[in-house]
Amino acid sequence: MKPIITRFPPSPSGYLHIGGARTALFNWLYAKKTKGKFILRIEDTDEARSTEESVTAILQSLEWLGIDWDEGPYFQTQRYDIYNEYIERLVASGHAYNCSCTQDEVNAMREEARANGKNPQYNGHCRNLNLPKSDNTVVRLKTPATGVTLVEDVVKGNTAFQNAEIDDFIIQRSNGVAMYNLAVVVDDLTMNINTIIRGDDHLVNTPKQILIYQALGADLPLFGHVPMVLGADKARLSKRHGAMSVGEYRTMGFLADAMINYLVRLGWSHGDQEFFERADLIEKFDLEHLGRSASMFDLDKLMALNAKHIQKKSPKELGEHLLFHLKNLGIEAQNDAFTQAVIKTLQPRSKTLVEMAKSAVFYYRDEVEFDEKAINKFLKPEAAALLTKAANAIESLVDYSQEPLETMFKTLMEETGLGFGKIAQPLRVAITGTTVSPGIFEMLLALGKDKTILRIRTAVAFIQARP
Ligand code: GLU
Repeated sequence: MKPIITRFPPSPSGYLHIGGARTALFNWLYAKKTKGKFILRIEDTDEARSTEESVTAILQSLEWLGIDWDEGPYFQTQRYDIYNEYIERLVASGHAYNCSCTQDEVNAMREEARANGKNPQYNGHCRNLNLPKSDNTVVRLKTPATGVTLVEDVVKGNTAFQNAEIDDFIIQRSNGVAMYNLAVVVDDLTMNINTIIRGDDHLVNTPKQILIYQALGADLPLFGHVPMVLGADKARLSKRHGAMSVGEYRTMGFLADAMINYLVRLGWSHGDQEFFERADLIEKFDLEHLGRSASMFDLDKLMALNAKHIQKKSPKELGEHLLFHLKNLGIEAQNDAFTQAVIKTLQPRSKTLVEMAKSAVFYYRDEVEFDEKAINKFLKPEAAALLTKAANAIESLVDYSQEPLETMFKTLMEETGLGFGKIAQPLRVAITGTTVSPGIFEMLLALGKDKTILRIRTAVAFIQARP
């Protein structure tokens, strides 16, 4: 069997959006699963709208998602010669021809057809004139006047397009530049692409592309057109539904693995399994279970998956990703034992990495910022003695670990006659500045003995200095 070769051909006129990322993912997964190839191609022939920044943004987002490519990126603007070679071949073999009709003439043909109750299209005027190529001629493909062109599709099933509705369309402009559908087919052919999964907004192009394949005497690839991603209001997903670009989701604190897990479920299923890790996904992905009906983007679902992926990862793996978000908060951290200990305390309670980074800030700051309400409630004058006792007790611990800390706490409770919370809350405020934090013991352990003592003593000094 020939290896599966898939592709992702974004048009670089913006960032990588959710729908594009999903298409890329389907193609990448299928190539990975079958040990085939995944090719990246930049469709930049619309030179007015294509930008280099957009190419960079798209590549960065793909890299962040971990969608790597085996070949490319190829750029269509660097391939005009190849397209023209194929166009010449089509003309030479009689499958295409030069046409000198002006835009006005074509408009008039359309008007006339409309008046006669026919399809408003080019009427084939130059089809058999055998005109030579000139600055005023375009090249048109000779398309069949009758019959149907069948699009066989692994997702949608078969769709028949009436050939009568497809006129002899232009494949090369008079300025010698190849048209989009021709370029796509020549690229897919020359890159040996045999599997094309794309959005069903491209289904209208497919019969035309099939006619080009047939004119070139080439085998058709396998097509699969996936339904669009919708917003909660069932309209096609767009900016007004919220963030559209993959890059924004990174900034919002989503893990690439969660994003991929979420994206794949927007149009593919494996029983009722919701949670997938990357390797599992590669193993289970197939084309048979690509869905026919459109899926709705649901941020809450993505959030829930993200929390699960955060819980599943090792602190070390998370550290790699958390540094980026800590940096956004002005904290230069390393993915070291300290950061990993910090992560461990926050992992069960963070839905996003942004949330985790925000909750981690207190660990890294030398000076604790006390929350006004927390001070008034827990850093009262009488707390100074209690906190001093705690600091002394911690200082005297030879083994700074969970059990000795728990014993120390018990002793403190006995000595003072106070309940757990009455001791833990002022301590928590002294350490974090607020009343919300991870569990007290795990937090004290993550912070380390010296910093813990220093913070408690600083809080005592703070209490004593208050008027
Ligand atoms: N360049 C097209 C897009 O960005 C994709 C074309 C195709 O998949 O054939 O939508």
